[in-house]
Amino acid sequence: MGHGPQDVHGGVDPHLGRYAARTAGMTASEIRALFAVASRPEVVSLAGGMPNLAALPLRDIAAQTARIIAEDGLAALQYASAQGLPELREQICEVMALEGVRGHPDDVVVTVGSQMGLDLVARLFCDPGDVVLAEGPSYVGALGSFATYQAQVVHVAMDEHGLVPDRLRAALRQARNAGRRVKMLYTIPNFHNPSGVTLAVGRRAEILEICRAYGVLVVEDNPYGLLGFDGRTYPALHSLDPENVVYLGSFSKTFAPGLRVGWVLAPRAVREKLVLAAESATLCPPTLNQMVVSRHLATQDWRGQIDAFRETYRERRDAMLRALEDHLPPGCTWTEPDGGFYVWVRVPEGVDTRAMLPRAVDARVAYASGTGFYTNGLGGRRMRLSYCYPPPGRIREGVRRLAAVLEAEPAL
Ligand code: PMP
Repeated sequence: MGHGPQDVHGGVDPHLGRYAARTAGMTASEIRALFAVASRPEVVSLAGGMPNLAALPLRDIAAQTARIIAEDGLAALQYASAQGLPELREQICEVMALEGVRGHPDDVVVTVGSQMGLDLVARLFCDPGDVVLAEGPSYVGALGSFATYQAQVVHVAMDEHGLVPDRLRAALRQARNAGRRVKMLYTIPNFHNPSGVTLAVGRRAEILEICRAYGVLVVEDNPYGLLGFDGRTYPALHSLDPENVVYLGSFSKTFAPGLRVGWVLAPRAVREKLVLAAESATLCPPTLNQMVVSRHLATQDWRGQIDAFRETYRERRDAMLRALEDHLPPGCTWTEPDGGFYVWVRVPEGVDTRAMLPRAVDARVAYASGTGFYTNGLGGRRMRLSYCYPPPGRIREGVRRLAAVLEAEPAL
């Protein structure tokens, strides 16, 4: 092929010398790599975090989308504001108000999913070598964004009430003593991915105070906050300290992830820079998709829709917890989420969830090994089980298969 000693298929990349240094931090996440295997129909996948969209009113969405194009097609198919459509930004403020956030539409930036928000925040704040604090474990997609901008993630331990304030203080002190620059705390306070844990209300102000005292920005990632099984919401960190919190929201879990509509609410000066960064990334978020979301919020019973999602996920959470109780071997423990999509399981000593995964897939069940949720090699005795997508019968079958795999491990 003339590129060098071997062609691309031979394993040597002919562009090797050309990539920017930052690409060294880009690695395929274990979880993404799993997707292909886990989506085979015979495999019960407890691995992914795909929402269950069966309850969506597809006919209504189709009719609304057709109307948008028929009545407002020239605008819907045109470029629009880099910051996002003004009417949608107003509606986003109403959605956030459900969790106590008092945001102004001028301070909202619409993004292509909150994943883009994570990328923009990392782009704005992270220089190579900067430290980002994040719960241990933390969301894979966020870890990827921080790695892309060559920041170093330092994990802060959580317990059953979420991030531990004393551990946060210790991490900040240690980083300061080591002369490191800590840029932000990235946190998922509600129905955490992957642990399923919610940050205790009593810890919220304390964590914000610690970050203020150390001059560290707080990035609050809250895609699951409206999916509490008893309908309860918790005060957003943003509502307690709006000037030092950048808030990330998303319609992926409460409406439709394929539309890729999320947002960032930021203090004004940060928002101005975010819009510039967003503009250089995408010019503007997709106009039609924003209109579909906006019309959905304006014409549908979207709160009733979220109630229906919550009910489905509560049922599936119950099915999973019952199955874990019934089938997992002694020595396993797990979290009991009050909302969201995930249970975090600890397996007995000697079991390595990453090494076990191919055996689980052979037994037609998939999970996400805990190691993908840490940047420091921890997580080998943990796994994330998602109950959001498979119906209860499949969840039970998946857990039964998983239990059999665990029992066959040499360590047990
Ligand atoms: N943050 C967290 C904690 C998530 O779990 C997810 C999706 N799995 C995202 C952000 C990204 O969501 P989206 O880009 O679809 O809005």
